[in-house]
Amino acid sequence: MTVLVTGGAGYIGSHMVLALTDAGEDVVVLDNLTTGFSWAIAPQAKLIEGDIADEALVELIIKENNVNSVVHFAGSIVVPDSVTDPLGYYLNNTVKSRALMAAVVKAGVKNFIFSSTAAVYGNPESMPVFETATPLPISPYGTSKLMTELMLRDSHFAYGLNYVALRYFNVAGADPKGRSGQSTPRATHLIKVACQTVLGQRPSMDVFGTDYETPDGTCLRDYIHVSDLIAAHMDALAHLRRGGESGIFNCGYGKGYSVLEVIAAVANAAGKPVNHKLSPRRPGDPAGIVAGADKVREILGWKPKHADLDFIVASALAWEKHLERRNATI
Ligand code: UDP
Repeated sequence: MTVLVTGGAGYIGSHMVLALTDAGEDVVVLDNLTTGFSWAIAPQAKLIEGDIADEALVELIIKENNVNSVVHFAGSIVVPDSVTDPLGYYLNNTVKSRALMAAVVKAGVKNFIFSSTAAVYGNPESMPVFETATPLPISPYGTSKLMTELMLRDSHFAYGLNYVALRYFNVAGADPKGRSGQSTPRATHLIKVACQTVLGQRPSMDVFGTDYETPDGTCLRDYIHVSDLIAAHMDALAHLRRGGESGIFNCGYGKGYSVLEVIAAVANAAGKPVNHKLSPRRPGDPAGIVAGADKVREILGWKPKHADLDFIVASALAWEKHLERRNATI
């Protein structure tokens, strides 16, 4: 029995492929390599370069490889880009997910794990935010993912497709063994940008918004180490395989850090200051979002191992240094 991982050449997907192959699972990756890298895929996994919306291809992959579970990462992930290109985001994240699901249902696969996001909550009324809160996304990115969650809910009832949707909070850090990390060029995510800045790859960075109603005026986020996030996917897979109920789970630690606190942690890890300037708010950003993360522990049995901002930042910085050496030798 094989696990199909869409977007397995990307940042989070490649960590999933490592975890699956480490566990001795057979893995096939479907990725169009627009933002992912074939070198990021564990050598034991098979890569098929193609589009998740190519229904005939997906059906063929499922049949030829005896796929019984799908883990769906492929998609676009930059909140501000979704504000300037909403239709591109609805195409990549919603329309293409619909096509993938149609092929999965047709081929008779029953287990589906989906990368959703805390962005479905928008600006939650209270914090921490639990899965029972009414989703009210404030960016097309959040809406595009919420629509896929709704398609999964309806497909579960209509076709018996069993699913777990994991709502990621802010994923960061890299494989502690140094095999993969966030490698996308033109990074926009805070921890990577701060690491690149402290290494001198960028002259300075922006702190987007200093007038939020938060303790230091900058946005609060719940940063989760990528390996802990992947552990939740492995728990979700085991849950579905043992016939567990379909559902939605927050993935975060339940603790928020401000943008300035993250920058301080990066400076501390690097032993030098991070050049930054205080800038206006970025469109689409909620002031703060912290996970109510009891359900994932109680139902999936999730036990995070790296709930420590300094560890997350240190592993992200180590990966950035690795990329620097790698690029210097290419
Ligand atoms: N941020 C920032 N400067 C940057 C990148 C991000 O101040 O160069 C802020 C951003 O405005 C948000 C937080 O850091 O408040 C996390 O943003 P990120 O893009 O990492 O993740 P998101 O929460 O948008 O998914």
